[in-house]
Amino acid sequence: MANLQLPFHVNLQDRVALITGGGGVLCSVMARALAACGARVAVADLKQEAAETVASLIRQEGGTALAVACDVLQPDSLAAANETVKRQLGPIDILINGAGGNHPKGTTTFEHLRPEDLQAAQKEVVTFYDLDPRGVEFVFNLNFLGTLLPTQAFTREMAAKGRGVIINISSMNAFRPLTKIPAYSAAKAAVSNFTQWLAVHFSKVGIRVNAIAPGFFVTEQNRSLLLQPDGTWTPRARTILAHTPMGRFGEPCDLIGTLLWLVSDEAAGFVTGVVVPVDGGFAAFSGV
Ligand code: NAD
Repeated sequence: MANLQLPFHVNLQDRVALITGGGGVLCSVMARALAACGARVAVADLKQEAAETVASLIRQEGGTALAVACDVLQPDSLAAANETVKRQLGPIDILINGAGGNHPKGTTTFEHLRPEDLQAAQKEVVTFYDLDPRGVEFVFNLNFLGTLLPTQAFTREMAAKGRGVIINISSMNAFRPLTKIPAYSAAKAAVSNFTQWLAVHFSKVGIRVNAIAPGFFVTEQNRSLLLQPDGTWTPRARTILAHTPMGRFGEPCDLIGTLLWLVSDEAAGFVTGVVVPVDGGFAAFSGV
């Protein structure tokens, strides 16, 4: 992994952070940034090995980290993770709800319904009518319940203490849905909506709740949508670039400044209930 450059430093000494999806592309960089600012970091992921790789990298970089295998959709697994983290690092002060993603079964083949696709059942074409409810359910559960359940499991101590920070990970598609991915778009809209609800709900117990909405980053979950086998951009990737005023895809380190600002009580102590786009201007551009 590339060397980590912090844009600035915030003081997270004596804080414990848990990041779900911490073994993934974007959240591993966020985990390293929190550790570089002094937090003791629990890297939580369904994939134990991925979590362990990130935790050992953080330790090599001089930080304190613990890999925790857990499933954001299983309350028992989350409760066990909370106990492990409490025992080994202390009670959690910062929760990053990063686990999320799309599924091919919640995705249509084409951007628009074409009259010819209605006529004959074509196995290779998934229209709106062919979307598999189980695929849609998977995506809703992973992104929405996968944010709500860890919040239940990991924030009781914060509420009792009267101080804590939650950052959810939303997406561009929460502002305006992206073509082909109705389930993922609606699920991330639910994450943004829940961020606002929770910010209000937790406002009297000292927990700030915000979200980051990354624009377009090339990662494992979208690689096949963006890159052709020969390494050139797909038509979809070219459309994204044409609608991103800054003319490039994001790099994971582009998220660090917003993350550190939002987790810092000194910098963002009066900020709660916002969803911050980090998108090179995509959300602002009408396309004309
Ligand atoms: P990624 O696939 O690299 O990472 C996701 C991680 O979540 C993986 O390590 C995976 O093992 C873990 N995970 C999956 N299901 C889990 C479960 N049930 N319990 C625990 N962990 C689980 O993806 P990424 O691109 O780094 O995405 C991180 C977050 O950012 C996601 O919420 C994603 O929706 C969001 N996001 C990504 C982009 C992008 O362009 N990549 C854009 C906007 C938002």
